[in-house]
Amino acid sequence: MNYALFSGLDEEFLALPFYEEQHRTTAVELAEWCVAHADLWSRPLERTPEKAGREILSALGSAGWLGFLDPANRPDAGGLRSVCLAREILAYADDLADFAFSIQALSATPILRWGSSAQQGEYLPRMASGEVAGSFAISEEEAGSDISAVGLTADRVSGGYLLNGRKAWIAHAGIADVHCVIARTGEGPGALGLTAFLVPAHTPGVRVLEEVPLVAPRSFGHLAFDDCLVPESSVLGRPGHGFVVATDLLERFRMTVGAAAVGFARRARDSAVQRARERRIHGGRLLDLQLVKGALADMEIKLNASALLVARAAWEFDHENPGCAKHSSIAKVAATEAAQEIVDAAVQLHGAAGLVADSVPERLYRQVRSLRIYEGASEVQKLIIADALGRRPHAGRSRVASDVPPSRVDIRCVDGESHE
Ligand SMILES: Cc1cc2nc3c(=O)[nH]c(=O)nc-3n(C[C@H](O)[C@H](O)[C@H](O)COP(=O)(O)OP(=O)(O)OC[C@H]3O[C@@H](n4cnc5c(N)ncnc54)[C@H](O)[C@@H]3O)c2cc1C
Repeated sequence: MNYALFSGLDEEFLALPFYEEQHRTTAVELAEWCVAHADLWSRPLERTPEKAGREILSALGSAGWLGFLDPANRPDAGGLRSVCLAREILAYADDLADFAFSIQALSATPILRWGSSAQQGEYLPRMASGEVAGSFAISEEEAGSDISAVGLTADRVSGGYLLNGRKAWIAHAGIADVHCVIARTGEGPGALGLTAFLVPAHTPGVRVLEEVPLVAPRSFGHLAFDDCLVPESSVLGRPGHGFVVATDLLERFRMTVGAAAVGFARRARDSAVQRARERRIHGGRLLDLQLVKGALADMEIKLNASALLVARAAWEFDHENPGCAKHSSIAKVAATEAAQEIVDAAVQLHGAAGLVADSVPERLYRQVRSLRIYEGASEVQKLIIADALGRRPHAGRSRVASDVPPSRVDIRCVDGESHE
């Protein structure tokens, strides 16, 4: 691998004991694959984000990069450390590559963790091959940060459940073949009355209400469910456990958002260093100015801290360490906030050239912004971190006991009260 060609990899980090040989090998292979397949994302303006997303998903699946989503391959999967490394590398290469990979992993993981063998057999091999695209739909116009406010209803009727309502801000809304939908079934109040369902996109009554154009173009939109009848077998996990399914997933994926932030920030740093080396100014190089050196050093310090926090959180999840949920939140907030600052500094060092539409700094500036909002805004993460501080030591993995079998999971509320 020519690291000069692709600096999305950091050899010093890969050498750390957080990683095993399989992680290092896979990371290098994925980085090489990204260099060889750059044409997949080299002409972003020529295709809709839906078309590009679908093509990238197929390519990732055919190459085996989604293979860990098939239970048959799980023993070699490499855990969340592999997912984080993949997001670092893919985000460095391209926003849509990271998006296609991460949304497929996000929507397949609840099936892996909570699905029946029939559900796993029906979806996971085809999600791993990239043939079937998934979405994970929790958010609604009135229920974003507050998952317990989900209003889309699923009423028990003869033959199954009838879904009615809307989902908002859903990644891959327009290309997903199956939606994992969190709906209100009413077993209890608020968070205790939610259930997860697997709803094929072709089910009568399901439609894309609106494609929503984003600041960084991606397949994204609102979904409508009108008298959508699904069989009882479409329940994922068990009735009343939708909040558990959702929080279990989000705890795991938060740190991977931090990993994507590391990838974007590395690209910004490399682009800033290159510019500072090449730009002639005041009779010398931009790089020789003291304040510029300070800005580059700040970038590097923040980047190192972010990458370490992400690696720690992923290692802890893979080893089922207590406190890993808190550290997942810390990794997300620290890395996404730092990436925003690093990208902004890279734009600044480029001067006007950093604001040219579709230049690397300008693209990163748009692409990095959503990370501080989706899968729990920074403020929500800070609440989770502070709540965990108020509990007994090692009680950080507090909102959901996701490492016990589904039948024994309980939900612990923010106030520490426990509900069976
Ligand atoms: C690119 C992208 C992809 C997404 N993909 C999906 C998806 O696939 N599936 C899905 O279900 N959803 C998805 N979402 C939606 C996302 O999860 C929500 O946008 C997010 O949870 C925030 O909800 P909201 O937008 O309704 O903002 P609100 O909940 O209205 O919050 C607005 C702001 O208020 C502040 N805030 C909120 N709560 C608190 C608090 N307790 N204390 C202090 N401040 C607070 C934060 O600054 C927050 O950004 C996506 C969003 C984006 C941008």
